[in-house]
Amino acid sequence: MKHTIQMGLLASIVAITGCTVEDDKFTDEDVARAVECSNQNGRDICRNPLGLDTWGVATLSNGELTCRALYCVSPFSEVPEYPGLTVWDVENRLIPVYFLDQVDKRFNYALDQVELAVGRTMFERHGVINLNIDAPTDIDYSRLDSGGGIIFSQATAVCNDSVCSSSNVSTAPYSDSIPRYITTDYQKIWRASGHGFVWVNLDAAEYPGSDTMVKTASENSAIHELAHVLGMHSHFDGFSRSEAWSHNASRVLKTMYYRGNPPGVPYFAMYIR
Ligand SMILES: [Zn+2]
Repeated sequence: MKHTIQMGLLASIVAITGCTVEDDKFTDEDVARAVECSNQNGRDICRNPLGLDTWGVATLSNGELTCRALYCVSPFSEVPEYPGLTVWDVENRLIPVYFLDQVDKRFNYALDQVELAVGRTMFERHGVINLNIDAPTDIDYSRLDSGGGIIFSQATAVCNDSVCSSSNVSTAPYSDSIPRYITTDYQKIWRASGHGFVWVNLDAAEYPGSDTMVKTASENSAIHELAHVLGMHSHFDGFSRSEAWSHNASRVLKTMYYRGNPPGVPYFAMYIR
């Protein structure tokens, strides 16, 4: 709705000044900066909106790694002084994806649009799974033999004090716990502690298990949430600001997953798509 109003306003400005709507689009410099900010490079060029340290060192206790930052290097490694592009290494391993209970057309839409945008296969699609989510933080994932991946789920977006999101990414259904990642050479590895799965939740139910939705997510919101998992961690013009997904957002994702920009490439050396 907000977007419609702004476009209406823009249309009248265009009519008066004669400039084109293309002026609304990112330049290559804008794309480069949005990649660096959204990927949370850990320096001061943009504020960290997650309220987390971007880079940390994972700690090991009782055989389990814990990461309190967004990205962690393994214990006894050092946090990089000038971090590079941090992404999933899809060249070596496709990202396993599961659908909880059903095929929702927004799940496939998001996956298809991302693969179309970046021009390569990104996902290993495992289809529909069933999990008991009555205890969201104590789910038995043992039947999913990939050891990690993305779970798309309908009706499990987070609500806090009856304020609900239409969609969100988390470590569990009905949760706003932010996934954190162990990295090796700037490749995102599965979430640091516990089960290793990242949840993409679309639509908020009146209460867990209810068939009544209080918030529903658009197709573009589904792509938006998937892009968060892929490494776009903050918002910018055309990625939540004014629109959930846009040409600008698509260019940022394309740049991040362009074959010529491998994990760890310095931001200044990226090819801009
Ligand atoms: Zn977002």
